[in-house]
Amino acid sequence: VKRRSWKTRTRLAAVGAAMSATLVMSGCTTAGSEGAVTVTNNVTMPSKGSTGSAGATSADGSSAGTKSPPPNSSTGRSATSGKPTKTSPNPAVTQTTGPADGFVPTKLKAGQKPPQLIVVSFDGVGWHEKWQYWSDIMNKVPFHFTGFLSGTYMLSTETRTKYQGPGHGVGKASIGWNEPKDLPVEIDDLNAALARGNEIGTHYNGHFCSDNRPGGSDWNTADWNNELDQFFALIKNVNANNKLPASTRLNLKANDIKGGRTPCLEGHAEDLYPAMKAHGMTYDSSFTSRGISWPKQSKQNKIWQIGMAEFPIHGTSHFQITMDYNFYFTQRKASSTGVTKDESAADSAQVTATYQDMYNAAYNGNRAPLVLGNHFNAWNNNAYSDAIGKFVLANCGKPDTYCVPFRDLIAWMDVQDPARLAQLQAQAPEIKAG
Ligand SMILES: [Zn+2]
Repeated sequence: VKRRSWKTRTRLAAVGAAMSATLVMSGCTTAGSEGAVTVTNNVTMPSKGSTGSAGATSADGSSAGTKSPPPNSSTGRSATSGKPTKTSPNPAVTQTTGPADGFVPTKLKAGQKPPQLIVVSFDGVGWHEKWQYWSDIMNKVPFHFTGFLSGTYMLSTETRTKYQGPGHGVGKASIGWNEPKDLPVEIDDLNAALARGNEIGTHYNGHFCSDNRPGGSDWNTADWNNELDQFFALIKNVNANNKLPASTRLNLKANDIKGGRTPCLEGHAEDLYPAMKAHGMTYDSSFTSRGISWPKQSKQNKIWQIGMAEFPIHGTSHFQITMDYNFYFTQRKASSTGVTKDESAADSAQVTATYQDMYNAAYNGNRAPLVLGNHFNAWNNNAYSDAIGKFVLANCGKPDTYCVPFRDLIAWMDVQDPARLAQLQAQAPEIKAG
């Protein structure tokens, strides 16, 4: 009974999000001089609400019970195209060779170009197979990322009443809950990711969006403070909440959590940022902007605004948010039903080509960091996991190129001469393939 209600809830949430996506798209599509522009801020979806328990509903809710393929079954990953070159290291960055590289932010010298930073992040990060998949990729190229953790993944079906989202009932969420046995696995995965130099931030808790209000668009600062208070408490109290043995210990400290991305990219900076500041956080990746540009700090609360770019999808003039769900919506109306493997492969190739267009534009242009965000998901026969995986393999470790978490990007900006950083920020966004 418990599982049936959980599945139903997840599927309803997915339907609701798809409906709101349709509304948002029809309301925000305009034809500009550079082609149709679709602002789809509100269409990102919850990631898979489980660390991989049998019968878990897939992230899009369309194929309940579909298991993800094992991490190594993705096809088409070319070892040759994925081989990084390690020549001409940028003297502005000290990086040793090898996948476990450190990244040492260094002040630019006069006239020196910034290194090209690629910041990859994932929302949710509660799926063991996907942790393994990215761990494998870290073995192949110098790559570190940020995982934005959903706080509810620190509870289970047995302990869900320890969370109550602002304006919602006790034990409610828009994403599924772990089975109790999944929790130690998720803790191990988080510890392993941290030990390898990755960063963990927050994707907040209940994944409440416009399909299950009140959500990010409705919450005021007190609500965001409540949500963040609970996120930090869920991290700190994971053992006590779940009666885990002392041998299971999460190595994530409150002080490590410096940023986040809101569910469905919803929310208002003026409400959210005071709460982030109050929790010692320094950056937000929720709000997108047109083209690839250098991050700036908000005036009021000094939060680094490091959102994803809206950029033309490869081969078109269609600007869109370059996030997995948004590609999925554009390519497949966010449904994998009846999509063939060949069609998914073609979709995936288009997404990889879009990322490559973005890289080339920034590398040959303003050198603004590429901020690429995905979920742990299997949408469209893994088209989006494959797409970003291929891009990472082909580009991380290239000359002057470093794939780092948000933390390292901010550390790099912090050591620059403020006047030089202001010059970088004053550059025009890159808005077309370079
Ligand atoms: Zn999400």
